[in-house]
Amino acid sequence: MGDRTEGGAAPIPAFANPASGRGKEASEAIGADPRFELRDAGPEGLESAIRAAVEEGARRVLVAGGDGTIATAAAAVPKALAKSPAVTVYDCKHSQTLPGTLVPKPSTSTDATAKRTWKETRAVATFYRNVFKRNSIDDAGMTLLSSIHFGTKFNNAMWNGAQMLYGDGDNQLFVDFTAGNDVIGHELTHGVTQSTARLIYQGQTGALNEHLSDVMGTLVKQWLLGLSADRSDWLIGKELFTANVNARGVRSMSHPGTAYDDPILGRDPQPSHMSGYVETDEDNGGVHINSGIPNRAFYETAITAGGYAWDPAGKVWFRTLEERLRPNADFHDFASATTEVARDLYGRDLQLIVENAWRKVGLDPSLTRSGASLRSRRRSSTRTNERRTIP
Ligand SMILES: [Zn+2]
Repeated sequence: MGDRTEGGAAPIPAFANPASGRGKEASEAIGADPRFELRDAGPEGLESAIRAAVEEGARRVLVAGGDGTIATAAAAVPKALAKSPAVTVYDCKHSQTLPGTLVPKPSTSTDATAKRTWKETRAVATFYRNVFKRNSIDDAGMTLLSSIHFGTKFNNAMWNGAQMLYGDGDNQLFVDFTAGNDVIGHELTHGVTQSTARLIYQGQTGALNEHLSDVMGTLVKQWLLGLSADRSDWLIGKELFTANVNARGVRSMSHPGTAYDDPILGRDPQPSHMSGYVETDEDNGGVHINSGIPNRAFYETAITAGGYAWDPAGKVWFRTLEERLRPNADFHDFASATTEVARDLYGRDLQLIVENAWRKVGLDPSLTRSGASLRSRRRSSTRTNERRTIP
């Protein structure tokens, strides 16, 4: 699959996202949004029109090309924040019909699940606003809607593309899935990824999607607790298991593959190095399995950088998610992008820390697959955007 805007337009620069639609419908949809300024590409083409707009400091620009292609750009200028997003909670009452019945005042509900969901969802929104200056999932104050008590003994939580939903767990293996704020942060981050890099949920790209949700999920937890990287447990979903299960959590970001070893659940299948990369058709190509590899690279970055994991490591990862990824990015693309962002935001010392973290998990961000350095590849070719095959 190609990685260019529809209609054969010029490659979009790294800070821009190709818009989701084509020509008129998309420009009508986005054009109604006051955050976007509409422009025609003109004779210079999409890419230079976007560059010009970004250089002028325009925050959101929609550029329409003559052939019906469009592109949007987000410039790196301070964002004016609207007020916090609304947080709503609905009760499915064990049905699978969404969203269910509105819980009128979740903040004072006698249902502990409703109250917790409201409180923790709000906390995630506060984390995104305070740490990354992001206003809700879409950076435009989108209402955060959660449905609780989904289904009967439902053993999962998910972002379904429009809202959150949480099962109560079967109480044999899992308890209520709203129990961990890192899980709530994880699921909401799937929404953030959907509205930024739009990483395809398959193979390495899908594992990056999972990885970014784990990163932001654990950062929510660490930030709320005020814990430095070296004092955090780096476990995801620590609160989700019943006492029947021999598990420390769903995943370990510091030591992938060690979160559980249990007669019923089996053993945590996550690799912590590329040498253990799991090729599988299950789990969308192992999205919850191979995410262990980048998870450990993030952990190594945060630990080596010291202090709190959300700054600098989290800020580098978030900027990468927001501005530097294409929807089919693979591990190597991601490793290279985080290394570049670390250099751009914090300089050479952090760049080296990030590079070394990726090397520890078997990825070398400075090398292409053929072994040539990125620099020489860039010099010799303008085709840096082709889809690479997953190893
Ligand atoms: Zn997930």
